Amino acid sequence: MTSAASAPVRVHLGFGSNLDDPAAQVLTAVAEVGAIPGVTLVCCSNLYRTTPLGPAGQPDYVNAVAACDTTLEPHALLDALQAIETAHGRVRAERWGARTLDIDLLLYGERVIADARLTVPHAELAAREFVVLPLLEIAPDLVVPGLGPVRKLAARFDPDSVTRL
Ligand code: ATP
Ligand code: MG
Ligand code: MG
Repeated sequence: MTSAASAPVRVHLGFGSNLDDPAAQVLTAVAEVGAIPGVTLVCCSNLYRTTPLGPAGQPDYVNAVAACDTTLEPHALLDALQAIETAHGRVRAERWGARTLDIDLLLYGERVIADARLTVPHAELAAREFVVLPLLEIAPDLVVPGLGPVRKLAARFDPDSVTRL
């Protein structure tokens, strides 16, 4: 007997870059994520210019959030996302330092995950305007497990705190 393939799960990913043509880094990465076997790109937010978090003196970021459907398990998806980061020349030096590409797994359906490699929903999701405002754009009715409606999370931020490109 063969087991049925698991149904796809809707996931949301956060993209960020502030080095080496950030907008191109993000757009290319979104397309590359859509090309991962077992991942289908559903939609992507606009690109947003945002103020850096972390060490001072960094260039502004370009951020976006995408929705995908995937049959990959969360850790396999993370592996694939990290391979794309590495292919974009991501070097992990200073925490929250400048980078060519960051792809974070913001949400994996309704799943709540807390282990050595993964915290989902992403631990800082609700605190980051550059995540919540693009998420509101593409999934205004979304309810974040443990955190509530994205509309409510977004109401805490000034819409002008991020600039649509
Ligand atoms: P932050 O997670 O605060 O946005 P960062 O994206 O710069 O910081 P990274 O260097 O990209 O951090 O990732 C560090 C580690 O975080 C990864 O090796 C990964 O195992 C872990 N991690 C935990 N939860 C997640 C998640 N939801 N998405 C991506 N990585 C995660
Ligand atoms: Mg990050
Ligand atoms: Mg990351």
